[in-house]
Amino acid sequence: MTSVDTRTAPYLDAALPVAERVADLVGRMTLPEKVGQMMQFDAREDLSHIVLDRHAGSILHTSPEKVLRAAELTAQTRLRIPLIVGEDCIHGHSFWEGATIYPTQLGMAATWDAALVERVARATAVEVAATGIHWTFSPVLCIARDLRWGRVDETFGEDPFLIGELAAAMVRGYQGEGLTDPTAILATAKHFAGYSETQGGRDASEADISHRKLRSWFLPPFERVARAGCATFMLGYQSTDGVPITLNEWLLSDVLRGEWGYTGTLITDWDNVGRMVWEQKIQPDYAHAAAAAVRAGNDMIMTTPGFFPGALDAVEAGLLAESDIDRAVARILTLKFELGLFEDPRMPDAARISEVMATPAHTDLNLEVARRSLVLLRNDGTLPLEQAAASGPRRIAVVGPLADDAQTQLGDWAGSSGQVDWLLHGQPRRQITTVLDGLRELAPADWSVSFHEGAGILTLEDDPAGAFFPDGQPRPRVVVPAEPDADMIAQAVADAQGADVVVAVVGDRIELVGEGRSTATLELVGGQKALLEALVATGTPLVVVLLASKPLVLPAAVADAPLVWVANPGMQGGRAIAELLLGRIEPEGRLPISFAEHVGQQPTYYNQLRGQHGDRYADLTQRPAHAFGEGLSYTTVAYGPPVIDAAVLGVDDTVRARITVRNTGARPVRELVQVYVRDAVTSASWADKELKAYRHVDLAPGEERTVELEVAVRDCSIVDARGRRVVEPGDFELLIGSSSRDESLQAAGFTVAA
Ligand code: BGC
Repeated sequence: MTSVDTRTAPYLDAALPVAERVADLVGRMTLPEKVGQMMQFDAREDLSHIVLDRHAGSILHTSPEKVLRAAELTAQTRLRIPLIVGEDCIHGHSFWEGATIYPTQLGMAATWDAALVERVARATAVEVAATGIHWTFSPVLCIARDLRWGRVDETFGEDPFLIGELAAAMVRGYQGEGLTDPTAILATAKHFAGYSETQGGRDASEADISHRKLRSWFLPPFERVARAGCATFMLGYQSTDGVPITLNEWLLSDVLRGEWGYTGTLITDWDNVGRMVWEQKIQPDYAHAAAAAVRAGNDMIMTTPGFFPGALDAVEAGLLAESDIDRAVARILTLKFELGLFEDPRMPDAARISEVMATPAHTDLNLEVARRSLVLLRNDGTLPLEQAAASGPRRIAVVGPLADDAQTQLGDWAGSSGQVDWLLHGQPRRQITTVLDGLRELAPADWSVSFHEGAGILTLEDDPAGAFFPDGQPRPRVVVPAEPDADMIAQAVADAQGADVVVAVVGDRIELVGEGRSTATLELVGGQKALLEALVATGTPLVVVLLASKPLVLPAAVADAPLVWVANPGMQGGRAIAELLLGRIEPEGRLPISFAEHVGQQPTYYNQLRGQHGDRYADLTQRPAHAFGEGLSYTTVAYGPPVIDAAVLGVDDTVRARITVRNTGARPVRELVQVYVRDAVTSASWADKELKAYRHVDLAPGEERTVELEVAVRDCSIVDARGRRVVEPGDFELLIGSSSRDESLQAAGFTVAA
């Protein structure tokens, strides 16, 4: 094989246009080098085999030492094509010891604040880029509709508009000023598309979803980030209409590349190509699977080692043209040239790492987003504790298995959550403030704070089906709920009896969250329910902090207790929660997802289609326990009647409305004014209302402001029975208020003229 003159090879000339450099380099590559370039390997495997024998284009799950080792190996290769290093840095630099870990995406969504989410993504990119990682597999644009699904925490919740706003912000934050910015990292819109819609919340099964349903709700957030320049898209695990998304010609070619004109890079999800052979059994062997995946337009193949021989065999057998491989390779190389990796491979930089990792500014930002993510769902005046305690010092009994569990507080995709093998003990404890830490630190000096765990949640046992899946991936161990422990409960109860208030911190653990860990129940697992019941029986005022990756169902015993929902709130979560309970900050989070009353009510998302016999089950209403958009503050807000400027509008006009909001209580508030649209009559079945706009308004006690709101008539659209997005002339209502519930919305009508 010829060596390359590194002085004259055009692809190494940074002055040449990217397209010329790509063409020159592709022209020099052998077929095995091209096939390897399309592959992303798990860096936990033998690196020298991956780089030297398989000519890897990319690696993921790369420990800090391995990033350096991989670069040394790359320098020994004939063409010295730099590796592109990817990682799931989905709420901070998840697997970098000592990085800043923010609330999960669902927690961030509860802020409803795109600018804040953009700042988190920017700060994450700055930390990630310093460590030799170029690509994050974030954000997740899946719509969470079945709460049993194990990956609800990774989503921005249930509403396509809110998802689009926040995802676009996150992409901007990661990619910064453009890929040549050394602090930019590639964003990934995933999991394209409809992955969350598998039946029964069963992860990665078939998602029976029509083109119209995709176009109506699941595709719009993806279209938005595709048009906004999100560099890469990851395909989901699911099949639709019998075809794995990896091969879905309609979605990949007609819609993504065609209608949306997307020119970015596509990556499969984990072993999607292999799964077609060994799991879904829709391809007879790796040659056919590789040929199908490349022809469908996939560029980077994640962790399918068999793709290497498979693609070579496919070309030899005439199943696949080398020109198809060239097209994918060209896209990957374009990314590498655009990032400038040939000139500067963006290696880990120790000085830079110590300068940017978990800086005080990032920690402050983390605290800010954690504060904003907390959702107060019920209050009877017990909160805030300092205000309610006019009569002097108090004793707080902190109880519950999650009150002082630092790693669980971080949630999935962080430290010891199970995806990597070098942070087995999680992120440094000293960087994490639990609820107990926060209350101990912030409670007034003459208050006392005690703690009892009160209950276990679960133990694990081996899955009888074996420790590994057929592809060698570890099979999650099976959850065995902990029995209520009479001694633990008795200790907590004894403490609660002598206290002025009990703060119970309950929820879920990592073993109930994530891929392959969907749950059949939404109820509190283990001894937690019995603990809450025993605490209620003491008669001491009880506050429930639900620290849970996703909406859960609480026992009837605490139906009236003040309730704060906290998605996994990141490293500063405990401090933020303590501040909220005490009353140092105001509750500002609002639900990005509805809470069910019972698991059997699934799905409970607010924007359901009109038309069913009645609106309840024989034995239960369909009313969610807490609806999308809900969230209380420590004050009350009164809304005046909405006023629309012009009642008859054309399709190119904008609906302009005004409403007055007044803080009628004694504390400040950041009110979230939400705007939904109801289309009176539609040519095809449609949601009764859809979120179209929202605005935060800060109001001091007694303050009144008039809020101006706008919705483009073009956005008052439906997808008709033929799959076209159209605005249908006729009568509409603008619904303005504090949540998606009908009773908190006021309507003003307008008409769209033909
Ligand atoms: C997940 C992706 C993730 C990838 C790499 C897959 O199992 O579905 O979301 O980016 O693994 O870790």
